Amino acid sequence: RPRVLSGIQPTAGSFHLGNYLGAVRQWVALQEAHDAFYCVVDLHAITVEQNPKELRQNTRVSAAQLLALGIDPDRATLFVQSHVPEHAQLGWIMQCMTGFGEASRMTQFKDKSARQEQSVGVGLFTYPILQAADILLYQAHYVPVGEDQRQHLELTRDLATRFNSRYGKTFRLPEAYIVKDTAKIFDLQEPTAKMSKSVPGGVVELLEDPKRSAKKIRSAVTDTGREVVFDVENKPGVSNLLTIYSALTGRTVESLVADYDGKGYGDLKKDLGEVFTEWVTPVQERVRMYLDDVASLDKILASGAERAREVAAGTLRRTYDKIGFVLPE
Ligand code: ATP
Ligand code: MG
Repeated sequence: RPRVLSGIQPTAGSFHLGNYLGAVRQWVALQEAHDAFYCVVDLHAITVEQNPKELRQNTRVSAAQLLALGIDPDRATLFVQSHVPEHAQLGWIMQCMTGFGEASRMTQFKDKSARQEQSVGVGLFTYPILQAADILLYQAHYVPVGEDQRQHLELTRDLATRFNSRYGKTFRLPEAYIVKDTAKIFDLQEPTAKMSKSVPGGVVELLEDPKRSAKKIRSAVTDTGREVVFDVENKPGVSNLLTIYSALTGRTVESLVADYDGKGYGDLKKDLGEVFTEWVTPVQERVRMYLDDVASLDKILASGAERAREVAAGTLRRTYDKIGFVLPE
């Protein structure tokens, strides 16, 4: 079975709609026919300052959300990144394979560092390199992510290619698995910017009071005119709402547009608020259920880490050997 690897940060307690529609929904679908590894990437979270108590809680809340959204620990390997030390170890090797100029071209670093109020850490700069290690450790065929990760996936492939040509075939070249329709969900207040955990604004959080979400949807920035049409260029706000509506209901955008013929933005927003509430309410109930039994949750994560380590340790050992490290007995 082809391998799949992906990760999500526990920086905010709640995932947002972009995380779900852009990534986690695909994770759930892919676990059926793939050997899937999914991790909560706490090492990535500390690239910006985290409160220890909140980080610990958010890591568990993230795992609980993945389970509540449909990740099945009997089918997929669900784990926490820091439980598998090979990530940091291969991360170092990959840093030594990366050019400074090459790392400097990562646009997400430019965006994120420009927004940082505190001083910008080197970890934020090298984070895509650690992410390359995350992927390469598992010899993943596919990496289900949103559009914003495309450049990082290219870096991963470049590093794998470089390593393989220097030391002999070691890593599989992974492919980004990006579902076009939902690859970039936009902020509701700023429908040309990506909905993001680290940028407050029109972010629909899965764990907030659904009434609050419905209100955010009702007050989403829409466009001039009043006709509900799908036109990303000229009507990014309405188009974003249609994308979300379509993804949550499985209905085509065309049929939605036909339905709202003669109605206005207000109707669309009100209905989408209801659609979202209906979808998210049972998800929230399941999250609560998993968090009510932290011991069982931690057990799921421990057995996931054990399975992940078997694969990761094998890859790291082969890598060390290729490099010329004396292998420990
Ligand atoms: P940050 O802005 O702090 O990086 P984030 O919102 O991007 O946070 P991540 O944990 O970095 O959250 O991303 C988890 C997954 O969600 C990634 O695969 C990412 O590509 C995807 N993703 C994030 N935002 C969106 C979005 N607006 N639309 C579609 N996919 C998204
Ligand atoms: Mg991100």
